[in-house]
Amino acid sequence: NSAAKAPPTPSPLRFSKFFQSNMRILVTGGAGFIGSHLVDRLMENEKNEVIVADNYFTGSKDNLKKWIGHPRFELIRHDVTEPLLVEVDQIYHLACPASPIFYKYNPVKTIKTNVIGTLNMLGLAKRVGARILLTSTSEVYGDPLIHPQTESYWGNVNPIGVRSCYDEGKRVAETLMFDYHRQHGIEIRIARIFNTYGPRMNIDDGRVVSNFIAQAIRNEPLTVQAPGTQTRSFCYVSDMVDGLIRLMEGENTGPINIGNPGEFTMIELAENVKELINPEVKIISVENTPDDPRQRKPDITKAKELLGWQPKIKLRDGLPLMEEDFRQRLGVPRKN
Ligand code: NAD
Ligand code: UDP
Ligand code: UDP
Repeated sequence: NSAAKAPPTPSPLRFSKFFQSNMRILVTGGAGFIGSHLVDRLMENEKNEVIVADNYFTGSKDNLKKWIGHPRFELIRHDVTEPLLVEVDQIYHLACPASPIFYKYNPVKTIKTNVIGTLNMLGLAKRVGARILLTSTSEVYGDPLIHPQTESYWGNVNPIGVRSCYDEGKRVAETLMFDYHRQHGIEIRIARIFNTYGPRMNIDDGRVVSNFIAQAIRNEPLTVQAPGTQTRSFCYVSDMVDGLIRLMEGENTGPINIGNPGEFTMIELAENVKELINPEVKIISVENTPDDPRQRKPDITKAKELLGWQPKIKLRDGLPLMEEDFRQRLGVPRKN
């Protein structure tokens, strides 16, 4: 009987997997700073369909405006602490506020986003057989006692401090990723992202690079938090996106550090911004916040060996690339 021989109707997911042509990709937190640059890169590939799920806490539709209405793009207002049912092949799970001002604003929500949000995305990955990448953070190393930080270092984190909702939240998210991998065979990827900067950073989110650039453009003093000798290593966003995609497409679960090993004190950063953007501006010292890590620099040996990745853009080249975007949004055109 011919009805019995008719092939079953494939589900959209199986169908796309069968032909290995289209890849449907979910980006949580895709309306944010790194997420929107990732979406731009993924959309360049005509075989990708991209779904963004974001609750717009720190992100904005504006960051995605060039894709709204595109046939391969979908934007969903969704909070990852609630279950999500979609059919996808890959999940880039970025949803989580990244700036200390925003993640400390509602710490309980931050930890829910990290823990329940990651649990939900893992449940989704399990149900549909998707590969999932978590954007973890160098903050899992806390105030590190080894320098530079390698992935094998377990960290020095205060479990009850004001940063803990973020640091410990990401540590639990990493644990959940590995437990789903070991227990349910989920394909996981973990990126430990170090400080990243570039166009579309939130202007008033309090992070140091966005603060200094906005201050330099507005001709306000650059606020170096004491003592100013604390260090960070800053990665330009296009390098970061490149690293994340290589990690997703490669065969290693991670965790893998993705960051730029060029290390600067906050005083040096302020001096660079002053020289490159506004030589007239003053640099002042202001009070710091609790538990500020004293030094941070990634060891990227693993990323180089396993992903063939290293950053290309030096800080002094990256800072001017942000300037035009900030000037436009602040409405302060360059003189001359
Ligand atoms: P961002 O704040 O610009 O973007 C985060 C996005 O997640 C925003 O669009 C926000 O609205 C969304 N979001 C927050 N909570 C959500 C929730 N409950 N449900 C749905 N969406 C939610 O931050 P970013 O700098 O683009 O960071 C992206 C990811 O990278 C984060 O996971 C962050 O922890 C990680 N990371 C960033 C840095 C950095 O320097 N930027 C460093 C380490 C790790
Ligand atoms: N989940 C989801 N989307 C899915 C499948 C699951 O958001 O497509 C959520 C689900 O609501 C649950 C979590 O992911 O809270 C973990 O799912 P899992 O199946 O691993 O655990 P269980 O549902 O058995 O607790
Ligand atoms: N910082 C600063 N001035 C500012 C904002 C931040 O000197 O206006 C310092 C802050 O004390 C920290 C470093 O810059 O040592 C990085 O802070 P940020 O909030 O950007 O990121 P994170 O602490 O998460 O690395």
